[in-house]
This record gives sequence, C-alpha cells and structure tokens, in this order.
Amino acid sequence: MQITRLRLTGFKSFVDPADLRIEPGLTGVVGPNGCGKSNLLEALRWAMGESSARSLRGAGMEDVIFAGTATRPQRDFAEVAIYAVAGDDEEVEVVRRIERGAGSAYRLNGRDVRARDVALLFADAATGAHSPALVSQNRISAVISAKPVERRAMLEEAAGIAGLHVRRKEAETR
Ligand code: ATP
Ligand code: MG
Repeated sequence: MQITRLRLTGFKSFVDPADLRIEPGLTGVVGPNGCGKSNLLEALRWAMGESSARSLRGAGMEDVIFAGTATRPQRDFAEVAIYAVAGDDEEVEVVRRIERGAGSAYRLNGRDVRARDVALLFADAATGAHSPALVSQNRISAVISAKPVERRAMLEEAAGIAGLHVRRKEAETR
C-alpha cells in the first residue's frame, strides 16, 4: 500500500486546510522547530486509528483539534484524510473526524465504518498507527531498547501478519 496524499483540516497547528502529495519512496519532513513536522506524522497515525491521546502528546483526544491562538479562534472539529493505493491499483480514502463533545468517526470511501475496520485495513497493509514505517522522534531509541516481545510485535507488523492476530483475538472473544 502506498500513501499518496494527506489532507488535514483543523488538526493541531494545521488550522487551515492542507493538502500534501506523498511521492513513492522514503519521505522526510523538514522545517524549523515548532512548524508542525511531528503534528503531520501524528495526523497520519491518528487517521489510521491511533487511540492513545498520550501518544499524540495530548491529555484527551480532543486535544488534536486546533485549540486557537492569540489571533485565531479554536475550531470545533478536526479532520484528516489519507489517500492510498492498494496493490490492485484501487484508491482508498480513509477519513477520520472528531468533533468537540461528539467523539471520532471514520469513513472508508465515503461509507461510515468502525475504528476496527480502519485498523484492519492498515494492519494488513503493514502500515498502521504503530507501524515502524512511521519514524517519529524518540522511536529510534524505542526500537533499540524495546523488550523482545515488543520488538517481535514491530517485526510482525512490518511483515504484514499483525492483522492475523487482531482477527484471532476477535474470533476468540466471540
Ligand atoms: P520540532 O522540530 O521541535 O520537533 P515540530 O516541527 O515537530 O518541532 P510540532 O511538535 O509538530 O513541531 O508542532 C508544535 C506546534 O504545534 C506548537 O506550536 C504547538 O503549539 C502546536 N499545536 C499542537 N497542538 C495544537 C492544537 N491543538 N492547536 C493549535 N496548535 C497546536
Ligand atoms: Mg517534532
């Protein structure tokens, strides 16, 4: 799966709509301190289903919504869309939206879906919110100092078999 485009509105510091094309290969994000590099990566992880506000450097999930500045009022919602092309050349659009007081919702190609559907889509594609393909600050040392069982989980996700575990867990709880 190749992520080809990222669209953000009201996500953290990206108060105005931003639309980014992502070319094939390795992508680096550069810019001065505080310009929003980490926020961009967090937007990707968030739209892929990240459920931990803390791992997005927030206290609660609504902290991803633009909180306002001295000159601009806060926003009521944040929305991030990921466009990706799967192996069969089919484009998928995954949208996550959060509204103050109303929680998160996901859409897959325009249809309402569960968080689990989005997690499975990306788990099978060896991407996903916790994928080693997304390298954020502190992640390098985290990989080096990971416990064997944690490193195994990273390898399984990279190998594209993490989705099997998710499904097995689901099957076991039925
Ligand atoms: P560094 O080079 O220091 O790692 P960076 O480019 O990764 O910086 P980010 O951490 O992505 O920068 O962005 C930090 C900026 O985002 C800060 O100015 C912070 O105030 C702003 N920010 C974070 N959350 C929100 C929010 N909910 N609303 C508005 N601004 C926010
Ligand atoms: Mg950063």
